[in-house]
Amino acid sequence: MRILQGLPTARGFAVGPVFICHGDSKIPVAEYVIESGRQEDEVLRYRKALGDAKRDVEGIIATLKERAGREDAMVFECHLMLLEDTELSGLVENHIREKLVNAESAVRYIYNDARARFQRMNDSYFRERIRDIDDLERRLLCALTGFGDHVRLALREPSIIIADDLTPSETVQLPRDLVLGFATNGGSPTSHVALLARAMGIPAVTGLGDITSRVHAGERVAIDGVNGTITLCPDAATIREYADLIERDKEIFEETTQSSKPCTLKDGSEILIFANVHPGIPVSGLRDHGARGVGLYRSEYLWLNREREPSEEEQFRAYRDAAKFTATLGEKASITIRALDIGGDKLVRGISAKEENPFLGNRSIRYLLANRDVFKAQLRAILRASVFGKVQLMYPMISCVEELKEAAEVLAEVKASLDEAGIAYDHNMPVGAMIEVPSAAINADAIAKHVDFFSIGTNDLIQYVMAADRGNESVASLYQPTNPAVLMLMRNVIAAAKRRGIHVAVCGESAADPVVGVLWAAMGIDVLSMSATYIPVISAILSRLTRAELDEYGALPETTNPDLTSREIYLACRNWLSSHIFDFENIVL
Ligand code: PEP
Ligand code: MG
Repeated sequence: MRILQGLPTARGFAVGPVFICHGDSKIPVAEYVIESGRQEDEVLRYRKALGDAKRDVEGIIATLKERAGREDAMVFECHLMLLEDTELSGLVENHIREKLVNAESAVRYIYNDARARFQRMNDSYFRERIRDIDDLERRLLCALTGFGDHVRLALREPSIIIADDLTPSETVQLPRDLVLGFATNGGSPTSHVALLARAMGIPAVTGLGDITSRVHAGERVAIDGVNGTITLCPDAATIREYADLIERDKEIFEETTQSSKPCTLKDGSEILIFANVHPGIPVSGLRDHGARGVGLYRSEYLWLNREREPSEEEQFRAYRDAAKFTATLGEKASITIRALDIGGDKLVRGISAKEENPFLGNRSIRYLLANRDVFKAQLRAILRASVFGKVQLMYPMISCVEELKEAAEVLAEVKASLDEAGIAYDHNMPVGAMIEVPSAAINADAIAKHVDFFSIGTNDLIQYVMAADRGNESVASLYQPTNPAVLMLMRNVIAAAKRRGIHVAVCGESAADPVVGVLWAAMGIDVLSMSATYIPVISAILSRLTRAELDEYGALPETTNPDLTSREIYLACRNWLSSHIFDFENIVL
């Protein structure tokens, strides 16, 4: 038995067999014989995949060509030539027809053959082309069979997924019913994969370094998403211990859900706790977890894993259904729909350009203001949905007042067009700004004049303040919610909101850390929004404190020694909580 330490990423515990997901080039592909008469269907599937692959490569070439002097485009031009090579395609199609196999089998067979031929050549130039063949084969196989389908075909029993890292689009495709947990070499608690694991209620540990090479497929492991460990070959006693932990976790969950009442402090005042939602991931558990509304609806997930972007109508249906569902969460329930927040690590096929530094690039509101058609279609859909519940619109990545002014002009245009067409919408739909860029947090007073509410995105705010990539495990120690600089900005934003009389929420995952989430509530945050699976814990802690105690807790970072480090502030807060709440350790497990 061996215990490895990683980063606690999504709460929960699991024991199960390992399933290793290598990069998409190595994941198993279903190869089978087809019925006679179905050859042309398979040929058509192959041609469609070929078309998709070509479009992808053309998109990459166009992006690279925009930058003069880049030679990278040549590599992809060579890929395009290979994809357009009728001889190669003819071989694949003939193989399907003659051998009566599915398109994936034919691609594998013909590309293996091509690889072998290149390998036999004396010329190093041709031997180099083997990498291009690998890349094209991967591209075609991905276009033929989505990543999730590959995994579903190969996963035979509920397992713990071990991977180098997973992209958000790969994660959402995984078969939820067969995934007990995640453990990855890379990643961190605020990477988007981590947030998805939380939304799906799947325990996860990230930042394990080389876990993929330390385990074998099928061997048993145990993961602890609260403490960030993975135990290899757990013995019988450890397996029993995990069964206990899973049981105790269920009890905490039941404490809040059975009472089904709002989260209130010991002396009665209510603290609003909302959930963060990813479209595509079921929301049915929200009520059971005690969510009183939706504080962040990540609309960009409607764009992932699709051939083309969602139409206004498709968006409208998704927003309307989410608004209707949210209305059932209670009388104070509202849903905050965030406008398309693509960029960073949330890349969308056909939209996201290749950028040197995507986290500082043309993302979120910047993209929307530069692509008015996309922006207007989304605004129309959100406005139309606003009559089905209490809908709020929120702009991501606001960095200056100009963006809000421009966005307001576009919104006014869209409203006028709806008026003209006689389409109903909520004329008073609140419009808010995410505060996740340091410039907006510093200049919060000015930003506040242009919006109806703030929602602080600490995932990005901390990344930008500390200059520490939120998804990079090697700088995870710098990702510090209680760093004095972060706390100064939090205070500044909260004070600006109070001066202006507008609501201020936190929708970053720091709200789900019991020590930090309670601190934000104590500092005056009006709504805490987080992955639903974390609500029972935060709720259980808050319900054990009085308002006076909460005030005392909120003042801790200021009253303690001003020279304290982030870690010392965190520990001072944690110690205070465990000395005031008798069963604190039990609640957070
Ligand atoms: C944030 O940045 O804190 C946030 C909530 O948005 P996202 O995690 O989607 O970037
Ligand atoms: Mg963000």
